[in-house]
Amino acid sequence: MEQKVLVVEDSRPFRRIIEIELRKAGFTPVLTESIAEAEKVLDESTEFLCAILDYCLPDGQDGEIIDVCLSVDIKVIVLTALMDEITRERVLAKTVIDYIPKDSPTCISSIIPILNRLKNNHKHKALVVDDSATARRYIRSLLERQYLTVVEAHNGEEALEIINKTHDITLVITDYSMPERDGVSLIKELRKTFRPGQLAAIGLSASDEAALTAKFLKAGANDFLTKPFNQEEFYCRLHSTLNILDSERRLYHLANKDYLTQTWNRRYFFDHSLVKHHKGPRCLALLDVDHFKTLNDTYGHHIGDMVLIELANMLQIYFPDALVSRFGGEEFCILYGNSSQVFQQRLEALTKDIAESELNILNNTIQFTVSLGMVNADANIHELIRRADKKLYQAKAEGRNRIVYEQ
Ligand code: GH3
Ligand code: MG
Ligand code: MG
Repeated sequence: MEQKVLVVEDSRPFRRIIEIELRKAGFTPVLTESIAEAEKVLDESTEFLCAILDYCLPDGQDGEIIDVCLSVDIKVIVLTALMDEITRERVLAKTVIDYIPKDSPTCISSIIPILNRLKNNHKHKALVVDDSATARRYIRSLLERQYLTVVEAHNGEEALEIINKTHDITLVITDYSMPERDGVSLIKELRKTFRPGQLAAIGLSASDEAALTAKFLKAGANDFLTKPFNQEEFYCRLHSTLNILDSERRLYHLANKDYLTQTWNRRYFFDHSLVKHHKGPRCLALLDVDHFKTLNDTYGHHIGDMVLIELANMLQIYFPDALVSRFGGEEFCILYGNSSQVFQQRLEALTKDIAESELNILNNTIQFTVSLGMVNADANIHELIRRADKKLYQAKAEGRNRIVYEQ
Protein backbone atom coordinates (compact mmCIF):
# COMPACT_ATOMS: atom_id res chain seq x y z
CA MET A 1 0.00 0.00 0.00
CA GLU A 2 1.26 3.45 -0.89
CA GLN A 3 2.23 5.45 2.20
CA LYS A 4 1.87 9.18 1.60
CA VAL A 5 3.71 11.68 3.75
CA LEU A 6 2.79 15.37 3.68
CA VAL A 7 5.79 17.69 3.74
CA VAL A 8 5.44 21.41 4.47
CA GLU A 9 8.83 23.10 4.21
CA ASP A 10 9.69 26.45 2.61
CA SER A 11 13.42 25.83 2.22
CA ARG A 12 13.94 24.35 -1.22
CA PRO A 13 17.19 22.46 -0.36
CA PHE A 14 15.58 20.89 2.71
CA ARG A 15 12.49 19.98 0.75
CA ARG A 16 14.68 18.29 -1.82
CA ILE A 17 16.59 16.28 0.80
CA ILE A 18 13.36 15.20 2.48
CA GLU A 19 11.95 14.14 -0.86
CA ILE A 20 15.01 12.06 -1.73
CA GLU A 21 15.16 10.36 1.69
CA LEU A 22 11.43 9.58 1.73
CA ARG A 23 11.47 8.10 -1.76
CA LYS A 24 14.56 6.04 -0.96
CA ALA A 25 12.72 4.56 2.03
CA GLY A 26 9.64 3.73 -0.07
CA PHE A 27 7.32 6.54 1.03
CA THR A 28 5.46 8.91 -1.30
CA PRO A 29 6.12 12.54 -0.39
CA VAL A 30 3.54 15.23 -1.14
CA LEU A 31 5.55 18.44 -1.12
CA THR A 32 4.21 21.87 -0.19
CA GLU A 33 5.97 25.07 0.86
CA SER A 34 3.38 27.07 2.79
CA ILE A 35 0.35 26.69 5.03
CA ALA A 36 -1.90 27.93 2.22
CA GLU A 37 -0.57 25.28 -0.15
CA ALA A 38 -0.83 22.55 2.49
CA GLU A 39 -4.45 23.50 3.20
CA LYS A 40 -5.27 23.06 -0.47
CA VAL A 41 -3.77 19.58 -0.42
CA LEU A 42 -5.68 18.72 2.77
CA ASP A 43 -8.94 19.88 1.21
CA GLU A 44 -8.47 17.12 -1.35
CA SER A 45 -7.42 14.34 1.02
CA THR A 46 -6.21 13.79 4.58
CA GLU A 47 -5.01 10.24 3.98
CA PHE A 48 -1.41 10.63 5.14
CA LEU A 49 0.72 8.33 7.26
CA CYS A 50 1.94 11.55 8.86
CA ALA A 51 3.13 15.08 8.13
CA ILE A 52 6.66 16.50 8.37
CA LEU A 53 6.28 20.17 9.18
CA ASP A 54 8.69 23.04 9.27
CA TYR A 55 7.92 25.03 12.43
CA CYS A 56 8.58 28.37 10.81
CA LEU A 57 6.84 29.07 7.49
CA PRO A 58 6.36 32.32 5.57
CA ASP A 59 2.62 32.39 6.32
CA GLY A 60 2.94 31.20 9.93
CA GLN A 61 6.17 31.60 11.87
CA ASP A 62 5.06 30.14 15.14
CA GLY A 63 4.09 26.53 14.41
CA GLU A 64 0.59 27.38 13.15
CA ILE A 65 0.84 24.60 10.57
CA ILE A 66 0.95 22.06 13.41
CA ASP A 67 -2.59 22.92 14.49
CA VAL A 68 -3.79 22.84 10.90
CA CYS A 69 -2.65 19.22 10.55
CA LEU A 70 -3.70 18.11 14.04
CA SER A 71 -7.18 19.52 13.46
CA VAL A 72 -7.67 17.00 10.65
CA ASP A 73 -6.15 14.16 12.69
CA ILE A 74 -2.84 13.90 10.92
CA LYS A 75 0.15 12.69 12.95
CA VAL A 76 2.83 15.33 13.07
CA ILE A 77 6.63 15.37 13.14
CA VAL A 78 8.07 18.86 13.53
CA LEU A 79 11.29 20.16 12.04
CA THR A 80 12.62 23.15 13.87
CA ALA A 81 15.69 25.34 13.78
CA LEU A 82 14.62 26.81 17.12
CA MET A 83 16.05 24.64 19.85
CA ASP A 84 15.16 26.64 22.94
CA GLU A 85 13.34 24.91 25.79
CA ILE A 86 10.20 27.00 25.44
CA THR A 87 9.68 26.07 21.79
CA ARG A 88 10.43 22.43 22.55
CA GLU A 89 7.89 22.33 25.37
CA ARG A 90 5.35 24.15 23.28
CA VAL A 91 5.78 21.77 20.36
CA LEU A 92 5.58 18.63 22.50
CA ALA A 93 2.52 19.94 24.33
CA LYS A 94 0.68 19.93 21.02
CA THR A 95 0.55 16.11 20.93
CA VAL A 96 3.01 15.79 18.08
CA ILE A 97 4.92 12.56 17.60
CA ASP A 98 8.38 14.04 17.63
CA TYR A 99 10.40 17.09 16.81
CA ILE A 100 13.66 17.04 14.92
CA PRO A 101 16.23 19.81 15.26
CA LYS A 102 17.18 21.19 11.86
CA ASP A 103 20.85 21.36 12.71
CA SER A 104 22.25 19.67 9.60
CA PRO A 105 20.99 18.11 6.36
CA THR A 106 21.57 14.64 7.86
CA CYS A 107 18.87 15.30 10.49
CA ILE A 108 16.35 14.08 7.92
CA SER A 109 17.73 10.55 8.11
CA SER A 110 16.53 10.33 11.72
CA ILE A 111 12.95 10.75 10.48
CA ILE A 112 12.96 7.54 8.45
CA PRO A 113 13.12 5.12 11.41
CA ILE A 114 10.20 7.00 12.98
CA LEU A 115 8.17 6.66 9.77
CA ASN A 116 9.01 2.97 9.51
CA ARG A 117 7.76 2.49 13.06
CA LEU A 118 4.54 4.37 12.28
CA LYS A 119 4.04 2.16 9.24
CA ASN A 120 4.44 -1.04 11.26
CA ASN A 121 2.80 -0.05 14.54
CA HIS A 122 -0.71 -1.04 13.50
CA LYS A 123 0.50 -4.66 13.75
CA HIS A 124 0.95 -4.24 17.49
CA LYS A 125 -1.66 -4.36 20.20
CA ALA A 126 -0.64 -2.98 23.57
CA LEU A 127 -2.14 -3.76 26.95
CA VAL A 128 -1.80 -0.94 29.46
CA VAL A 129 -1.99 -2.22 33.03
CA ASP A 130 -2.42 0.36 35.75
CA ASP A 131 -4.93 0.92 38.54
CA SER A 132 -4.82 4.66 37.89
CA ALA A 133 -7.25 5.76 35.18
CA THR A 134 -5.22 8.94 34.61
CA ALA A 135 -2.03 6.97 33.98
CA ARG A 136 -3.84 4.57 31.65
CA ARG A 137 -5.34 7.45 29.69
CA TYR A 138 -1.98 9.19 29.29
CA ILE A 139 -0.18 6.05 28.07
CA ARG A 140 -3.08 5.15 25.81
CA SER A 141 -2.92 8.57 24.16
CA LEU A 142 0.83 8.25 23.60
CA LEU A 143 0.40 4.81 22.02
CA GLU A 144 -2.62 5.66 19.89
CA ARG A 145 -0.85 8.69 18.54
CA GLN A 146 1.53 6.18 16.94
CA TYR A 147 -1.15 3.88 15.51
CA LEU A 148 -0.94 1.14 18.13
CA THR A 149 -4.16 -0.55 19.17
CA VAL A 150 -4.64 -0.25 22.92
CA VAL A 151 -6.55 -2.23 25.52
CA GLU A 152 -6.54 -1.58 29.25
CA ALA A 153 -6.47 -3.63 32.43
CA HIS A 154 -6.88 -2.37 36.00
CA ASN A 155 -4.50 -4.89 37.56
CA GLY A 156 -2.17 -7.82 36.87
CA GLU A 157 -4.87 -10.45 37.31
CA GLU A 158 -7.17 -8.83 34.75
CA ALA A 159 -4.18 -8.42 32.41
CA LEU A 160 -3.52 -12.19 32.47
CA GLU A 161 -7.16 -12.91 31.70
CA ILE A 162 -7.13 -10.54 28.72
CA ILE A 163 -3.86 -11.91 27.32
CA ASN A 164 -5.03 -15.51 27.59
CA LYS A 165 -8.36 -14.69 26.02
CA THR A 166 -7.30 -12.46 23.13
CA HIS A 167 -3.99 -14.05 21.96
CA ASP A 168 -2.99 -10.99 19.94
CA ILE A 169 -1.39 -8.71 22.51
CA THR A 170 2.25 -8.05 21.60
CA LEU A 171 3.21 -5.48 24.24
CA VAL A 172 2.38 -5.07 27.92
CA ILE A 173 3.09 -1.81 29.72
CA THR A 174 2.57 -2.33 33.41
CA ASP A 175 2.65 -0.35 36.60
CA TYR A 176 4.16 -2.02 39.66
CA SER A 177 1.81 -1.42 42.53
CA MET A 178 -1.74 -2.65 41.90
CA PRO A 179 -4.39 -4.20 44.15
CA GLU A 180 -4.59 -7.60 42.46
CA ARG A 181 -1.22 -8.94 41.28
CA ASP A 182 1.59 -6.42 40.92
CA GLY A 183 3.49 -5.69 37.71
CA VAL A 184 6.58 -7.77 38.55
CA SER A 185 4.48 -10.83 39.36
CA LEU A 186 2.51 -10.30 36.14
CA ILE A 187 5.67 -10.29 34.02
CA LYS A 188 7.04 -13.37 35.83
CA GLU A 189 3.83 -15.21 35.05
CA LEU A 190 3.88 -14.12 31.39
CA ARG A 191 7.47 -15.28 30.96
CA LYS A 192 6.40 -18.86 31.75
CA THR A 193 4.65 -18.84 28.36
CA PHE A 194 6.03 -16.01 26.22
CA ARG A 195 9.58 -15.13 25.25
CA PRO A 196 10.53 -11.41 25.33
CA GLY A 197 10.58 -11.45 21.52
CA GLN A 198 7.01 -12.79 21.36
CA LEU A 199 5.37 -10.59 23.95
CA ALA A 200 7.31 -7.57 25.13
CA ALA A 201 6.85 -6.02 28.55
CA ILE A 202 7.80 -2.58 29.82
CA GLY A 203 7.63 -1.97 33.58
CA LEU A 204 6.81 1.37 35.15
CA SER A 205 8.36 2.31 38.45
CA ALA A 206 8.25 5.50 40.48
CA SER A 207 11.58 7.19 40.92
CA ASP A 208 11.73 6.60 44.69
CA GLU A 209 11.67 2.82 44.20
CA ALA A 210 15.19 2.34 42.82
CA ALA A 211 15.26 -1.42 43.45
CA LEU A 212 12.17 -1.94 41.31
CA THR A 213 13.98 -1.42 38.05
CA ALA A 214 16.17 -4.46 38.73
CA LYS A 215 13.15 -6.45 39.92
CA PHE A 216 11.32 -5.74 36.67
CA LEU A 217 14.31 -6.65 34.51
CA LYS A 218 14.98 -9.85 36.46
CA ALA A 219 11.33 -10.84 36.12
CA GLY A 220 11.79 -10.63 32.35
CA ALA A 221 10.77 -7.10 31.39
CA ASN A 222 12.27 -5.90 28.10
CA ASP A 223 12.66 -2.41 29.51
CA PHE A 224 11.45 -0.04 32.21
CA LEU A 225 10.49 3.58 32.61
CA THR A 226 10.78 5.67 35.73
CA LYS A 227 7.68 7.69 36.52
CA PRO A 228 7.10 10.47 35.76
CA PHE A 229 8.55 10.07 32.29
CA ASN A 230 8.42 12.44 29.38
CA GLN A 231 7.05 11.68 25.97
CA GLU A 232 10.41 11.53 24.23
CA GLU A 233 11.84 8.97 26.62
CA PHE A 234 8.66 6.92 26.36
CA TYR A 235 8.84 6.84 22.56
CA CYS A 236 12.56 5.97 22.55
CA ARG A 237 11.98 2.96 24.79
CA LEU A 238 8.81 1.99 22.98
CA HIS A 239 10.54 2.10 19.61
CA SER A 240 13.53 0.03 20.63
CA THR A 241 11.22 -2.56 22.20
CA LEU A 242 8.98 -2.75 19.13
CA ASN A 243 12.01 -2.92 16.82
CA ILE A 244 13.21 -5.99 18.71
CA LEU A 245 9.76 -7.58 18.49
CA ASP A 246 9.62 -6.95 14.76
CA SER A 247 13.08 -8.37 14.06
CA GLU A 248 12.33 -11.45 16.16
CA ARG A 249 9.11 -11.90 14.21
CA ARG A 250 10.97 -11.53 10.92
CA LEU A 251 13.53 -14.13 11.97
CA TYR A 252 10.84 -16.53 13.10
CA HIS A 253 9.11 -16.07 9.78
CA LEU A 254 12.30 -16.66 7.81
CA ALA A 255 13.08 -19.80 9.78
CA ASN A 256 9.61 -21.35 9.69
CA LYS A 257 7.85 -20.27 6.52
CA ASP A 258 8.46 -21.40 3.01
CA TYR A 259 9.87 -18.44 1.11
CA LEU A 260 7.93 -19.01 -2.12
CA THR A 261 4.45 -19.91 -0.90
CA GLN A 262 4.47 -18.51 2.65
CA THR A 263 3.13 -21.79 4.02
CA TRP A 264 4.84 -23.40 7.02
CA ASN A 265 7.95 -25.36 6.17
CA ARG A 266 9.01 -28.89 7.22
CA ARG A 267 11.00 -27.58 10.14
CA TYR A 268 7.96 -25.84 11.61
CA PHE A 269 5.79 -28.86 10.92
CA PHE A 270 7.94 -31.33 12.82
CA ASP A 271 8.33 -28.89 15.68
CA HIS A 272 4.59 -28.23 16.08
CA SER A 273 2.87 -29.42 19.23
CA LEU A 274 0.07 -30.97 17.17
CA VAL A 275 2.75 -33.11 15.53
CA LYS A 276 4.84 -33.92 18.60
CA HIS A 277 2.40 -34.27 21.48
CA HIS A 278 -0.87 -35.33 19.94
CA LYS A 279 -2.66 -38.37 21.38
CA GLY A 280 -5.31 -40.38 19.55
CA PRO A 281 -6.27 -40.65 15.90
CA ARG A 282 -5.83 -37.81 13.39
CA CYS A 283 -6.00 -37.25 9.66
CA LEU A 284 -3.06 -36.58 7.41
CA ALA A 285 -2.94 -36.06 3.66
CA LEU A 286 0.00 -35.71 1.30
CA LEU A 287 -0.68 -33.75 -1.87
CA ASP A 288 1.51 -33.71 -4.98
CA VAL A 289 0.98 -31.77 -8.20
CA ASP A 290 0.58 -34.01 -11.24
CA HIS A 291 3.12 -33.75 -14.03
CA PHE A 292 4.58 -30.62 -12.56
CA LYS A 293 7.83 -31.14 -14.41
CA THR A 294 5.92 -30.96 -17.71
CA LEU A 295 4.17 -27.79 -16.54
CA ASN A 296 7.57 -26.23 -15.82
CA ASP A 297 8.97 -27.41 -19.13
CA THR A 298 5.97 -26.05 -21.05
CA TYR A 299 5.47 -22.67 -19.41
CA GLY A 300 8.74 -21.99 -17.59
CA HIS A 301 9.85 -22.27 -14.00
CA HIS A 302 8.49 -18.84 -13.17
CA ILE A 303 4.94 -19.86 -14.06
CA GLY A 304 5.49 -23.10 -12.12
CA ASP A 305 6.31 -20.96 -9.09
CA MET A 306 3.11 -18.99 -9.49
CA VAL A 307 1.08 -22.17 -9.73
CA LEU A 308 2.59 -23.29 -6.41
CA ILE A 309 1.64 -19.96 -4.84
CA GLU A 310 -1.90 -20.29 -6.17
CA LEU A 311 -2.12 -23.85 -4.86
CA ALA A 312 -0.87 -22.75 -1.43
CA ASN A 313 -3.58 -20.06 -1.35
CA MET A 314 -6.24 -22.62 -2.13
CA LEU A 315 -4.96 -24.89 0.63
CA GLN A 316 -5.22 -22.01 3.09
CA ILE A 317 -8.79 -21.33 1.99
CA TYR A 318 -9.89 -24.96 2.24
CA PHE A 319 -7.94 -25.73 5.43
CA PRO A 320 -7.66 -22.58 7.55
CA ASP A 321 -7.89 -24.73 10.69
CA ALA A 322 -5.37 -27.39 9.66
CA LEU A 323 -1.59 -27.47 9.77
CA VAL A 324 -0.61 -27.02 6.12
CA SER A 325 3.05 -27.19 5.22
CA ARG A 326 5.17 -27.40 2.10
CA PHE A 327 7.25 -30.52 2.40
CA GLY A 328 9.37 -29.66 -0.62
CA GLY A 329 9.04 -29.19 -4.37
CA GLU A 330 5.37 -29.53 -5.33
CA GLU A 331 4.42 -31.63 -2.32
CA PHE A 332 2.30 -30.38 0.58
CA CYS A 333 1.21 -32.03 3.81
CA ILE A 334 -2.11 -31.32 5.55
CA LEU A 335 -2.49 -32.42 9.15
CA TYR A 336 -6.00 -32.22 10.52
CA GLY A 337 -7.88 -33.22 13.67
CA ASN A 338 -9.90 -36.37 13.91
CA SER A 339 -13.03 -35.63 11.89
CA SER A 340 -12.18 -37.65 8.81
CA GLN A 341 -15.59 -37.08 7.27
CA VAL A 342 -15.18 -33.29 7.17
CA PHE A 343 -11.58 -33.69 6.07
CA GLN A 344 -12.47 -36.02 3.20
CA GLN A 345 -15.27 -33.74 2.02
CA ARG A 346 -12.94 -30.80 1.91
CA LEU A 347 -10.20 -32.78 0.14
CA GLU A 348 -12.71 -33.87 -2.51
CA ALA A 349 -13.95 -30.30 -2.99
CA LEU A 350 -10.38 -28.97 -3.24
CA THR A 351 -9.32 -31.61 -5.78
CA LYS A 352 -12.38 -30.89 -7.90
CA ASP A 353 -11.91 -27.14 -7.63
CA ILE A 354 -8.26 -27.41 -8.73
CA ALA A 355 -9.07 -29.67 -11.69
CA GLU A 356 -11.84 -27.34 -12.86
CA SER A 357 -9.92 -24.08 -12.38
CA GLU A 358 -8.30 -22.25 -15.21
CA LEU A 359 -5.52 -20.05 -13.91
CA ASN A 360 -4.68 -17.04 -15.93
CA ILE A 361 -1.00 -16.38 -15.34
CA LEU A 362 0.89 -13.86 -17.47
CA ASN A 363 -1.41 -14.46 -20.44
CA ASN A 364 -1.18 -18.24 -20.14
CA THR A 365 -4.22 -20.32 -19.33
CA ILE A 366 -2.99 -23.00 -16.97
CA GLN A 367 -4.82 -26.11 -15.87
CA PHE A 368 -3.39 -28.65 -13.50
CA THR A 369 -4.44 -31.47 -11.22
CA VAL A 370 -3.25 -32.93 -7.94
CA SER A 371 -3.06 -36.39 -6.39
CA LEU A 372 -3.49 -37.13 -2.71
CA GLY A 373 -2.98 -39.93 -0.26
CA MET A 374 -4.84 -39.77 3.04
CA VAL A 375 -4.83 -41.69 6.29
CA ASN A 376 -6.80 -41.42 9.51
CA ALA A 377 -5.05 -43.37 12.25
CA ASP A 378 -3.69 -43.37 15.78
CA ALA A 379 -0.01 -43.51 14.94
CA ASN A 380 3.12 -41.40 15.26
CA ILE A 381 3.77 -38.74 12.64
CA HIS A 382 6.39 -40.67 10.69
CA GLU A 383 4.08 -43.65 10.45
CA LEU A 384 1.21 -41.42 9.25
CA ILE A 385 3.40 -39.83 6.59
CA ARG A 386 4.71 -43.20 5.41
CA ARG A 387 1.20 -44.59 5.06
CA ALA A 388 -0.17 -41.46 3.34
CA ASP A 389 2.79 -41.55 0.94
CA LYS A 390 1.95 -45.11 -0.02
CA LYS A 391 -1.58 -44.01 -0.88
CA LEU A 392 -0.27 -41.02 -2.81
CA TYR A 393 1.89 -43.35 -4.86
CA GLN A 394 -1.18 -45.46 -5.55
CA ALA A 395 -3.16 -42.37 -6.62
CA LYS A 396 -0.41 -41.55 -9.13
CA ALA A 397 -0.30 -45.12 -10.41
CA GLU A 398 -4.08 -45.26 -10.82
CA GLY A 399 -4.12 -42.26 -13.14
CA ARG A 400 -3.62 -39.10 -10.99
CA ASN A 401 -6.20 -36.33 -10.25
CA ARG A 402 -7.62 -38.36 -7.38
CA ILE A 403 -7.51 -39.11 -3.67
CA VAL A 404 -6.74 -42.56 -2.33
CA TYR A 405 -7.82 -43.21 1.25
CA GLU A 406 -6.31 -45.83 3.46
CA GLN A 407 -9.12 -48.24 4.24
P1 GH3 B 1 4.15 -36.66 -10.94
O1 GH3 B 1 2.80 -36.45 -11.54
O2 GH3 B 1 4.53 -38.08 -10.95
O3 GH3 B 1 4.22 -36.07 -9.57
O4 GH3 B 1 5.16 -35.90 -11.88
P2 GH3 B 1 5.93 -34.55 -11.59
O5 GH3 B 1 6.49 -34.07 -12.87
O6 GH3 B 1 5.03 -33.63 -10.88
O7 GH3 B 1 7.03 -35.02 -10.57
P3 GH3 B 1 8.60 -34.91 -10.58
O8 GH3 B 1 8.97 -35.29 -9.17
O9 GH3 B 1 9.18 -35.68 -11.70
O10 GH3 B 1 8.93 -33.40 -10.84
C1 GH3 B 1 8.71 -32.42 -9.90
C2 GH3 B 1 9.20 -31.13 -10.49
O11 GH3 B 1 8.92 -30.04 -9.62
C3 GH3 B 1 10.68 -31.13 -10.73
C4 GH3 B 1 11.17 -29.82 -10.15
O12 GH3 B 1 11.96 -29.09 -11.01
C5 GH3 B 1 9.89 -29.05 -9.88
N1 GH3 B 1 9.99 -28.18 -8.74
C6 GH3 B 1 10.38 -28.46 -7.48
N2 GH3 B 1 10.35 -27.33 -6.73
C7 GH3 B 1 9.94 -26.34 -7.53
C8 GH3 B 1 9.73 -24.94 -7.32
O13 GH3 B 1 9.89 -24.36 -6.24
N3 GH3 B 1 9.31 -24.21 -8.40
C9 GH3 B 1 9.10 -24.79 -9.62
N4 GH3 B 1 8.69 -24.00 -10.61
N5 GH3 B 1 9.33 -26.08 -9.83
C10 GH3 B 1 9.73 -26.87 -8.81
MG1 MG C 1 4.38 -34.15 -8.94
MG1 MG D 1 7.04 -34.80 -6.63
